[in-house]
Amino acid sequence: MTSSARPHLNRRLAEFGTTIFAEMSALAVATGAINLGQGFPDTDGPEEIREAAVRALRDGRGNQYPPGPGIPELRTAITAHQQRRYGLSYDPDTEVLVTAGATEAIAASLLALVEPGDEVVALEPYYDSYAASIAMAGGTRVPVTLRPHEGSFRLDLDELRAAVTDRTRLLLVNTPHNPTGTVLTRAELAAIAELAVERDLLVVTDEVYEHLVFDGAGHLPLATFPGMRERTVSIGSAGKTFSFTGWKVGWVTAAPALVSAVRAVKQFLTYVASGPFQYAVAEALALPDSYFEEFRSGMLARRDILAEGLTAAGFEVFRPAGTYFITTDIRPLGEKDGFAFCRALPERAGVVAIPNAVFYDDREAGAPFVRFAFCKREEVLQEAAERLRRM
Ligand SMILES: *Cc1c(COP(=O)(O)O)cnc(C)c1O
Repeated sequence: MTSSARPHLNRRLAEFGTTIFAEMSALAVATGAINLGQGFPDTDGPEEIREAAVRALRDGRGNQYPPGPGIPELRTAITAHQQRRYGLSYDPDTEVLVTAGATEAIAASLLALVEPGDEVVALEPYYDSYAASIAMAGGTRVPVTLRPHEGSFRLDLDELRAAVTDRTRLLLVNTPHNPTGTVLTRAELAAIAELAVERDLLVVTDEVYEHLVFDGAGHLPLATFPGMRERTVSIGSAGKTFSFTGWKVGWVTAAPALVSAVRAVKQFLTYVASGPFQYAVAEALALPDSYFEEFRSGMLARRDILAEGLTAAGFEVFRPAGTYFITTDIRPLGEKDGFAFCRALPERAGVVAIPNAVFYDDREAGAPFVRFAFCKREEVLQEAAERLRRM
C-alpha cells in the first residue's frame, strides 16, 4: 500500500473520525433550530470574573507562559476550595496541576497512567473524550453500563466488580454523570472505593459538575472515601461551574506521585494554557457560597422547565439529579432509533438533541435514549418545550 492509499488517521483513532456534535450543530444552523445538543450555556458567567480576566490581561499577568503547574494564586484557590467544601487537604505546590480544561486533564491522566494493553473500566454511556483518550493511551476500554431503573440510570455494583480483571489498571468514574444526570450515591461510591482498594486500582474521577447536584446532600468527592486519597486523580473545571466553557481552565488534584506523572504528560500536550484566565478563575473559586447556591438553583429551575416540557411532549424523562443534561426515552413516542429521531428532529420540531447511542459501545443499549441540554435561558427552554409539544 502506498502512503497515500493508507488512511491518514491512525488505526487507534479511526473510529473517532467525526463527532455527532458537528453534524447536529450544522443541522441547527441550517434549519434555524434551537440547539439543545451541545452543553454550553447561552449566557456568560459573572461579570466581576470577566472583569478579573480583563484586569489580568491589561496588567500583563499571564500574557506570557505561566508556570507549568499553574499560577500559585490558582493552585492555592483550588486547594482552599477543596478544603472549604469537602474538608480535603491538598498541598498547592505538589498536589495540584492546572490543565487546559478537564479534557486535557483526562487525556493527560490516561496517557500518564495507562500502559498499552491495560484495561480501563468506565461507566457507559461515557463522555465522548474518554473512549478517545483511552485509545490514545493504547488502553482497552471495558464498559459497565448504567441501566434505567425506576426513573434514573443506575450502576450495577456486581457488574462493576465482574468487569475488573488482573489487567485492569484504573477505574474512570464520572459523577455527576454526563449524559444520564445520575449522581452516584454514598453507598455506591463507598463500594467503588472498597473495590479500588481491594484490587489496588487507580481511580480517575471526573467531577466537573460538582456544583450541579440538585437533590440530597450535595456532591461527594470520591477522594474523601477511605483509602482513596492516595489512589485518586480528581478532575475539576471552571467551564461548567462558572459558565466560561471557552476559557479552558481545568485542574487535577491528587497525591504528589500521581500529579507528577500527569504533569510529565501535560507538559508535552499544551505545556501551559489560559494564562490570564487562571487569575480570573482564582477569584471565581473564592466567590461566596451565595454564587454557587444561585448558580445551582437557577439551573434547577431550568431543569424543571425542560423536564416538564419533555414530559408534556410525550417523552419518558429521567429527571437528572445533577449536570445540565436530561436523558429521555423516545419509545413512548412510538420511536426506537435515537439517531434517526435526532436527525429528523430539527425539521420536525425545530429543536436539536443528541442521540445517547454515540456514548455507548453497546449501541443497541443506547438506541432509544436522547439527550437534551438545559443550560439555556428560560425563554429558550420554554420555546423549545412548546415546539416539542406541537410536534
Ligand atoms: C464538559 C465536560 C468535560 C470537559 O470540560 P472542559 O473543562 O471544557 O475541558 C469533561 N467531562 C465532562 C463529563 C463534561 O461534561
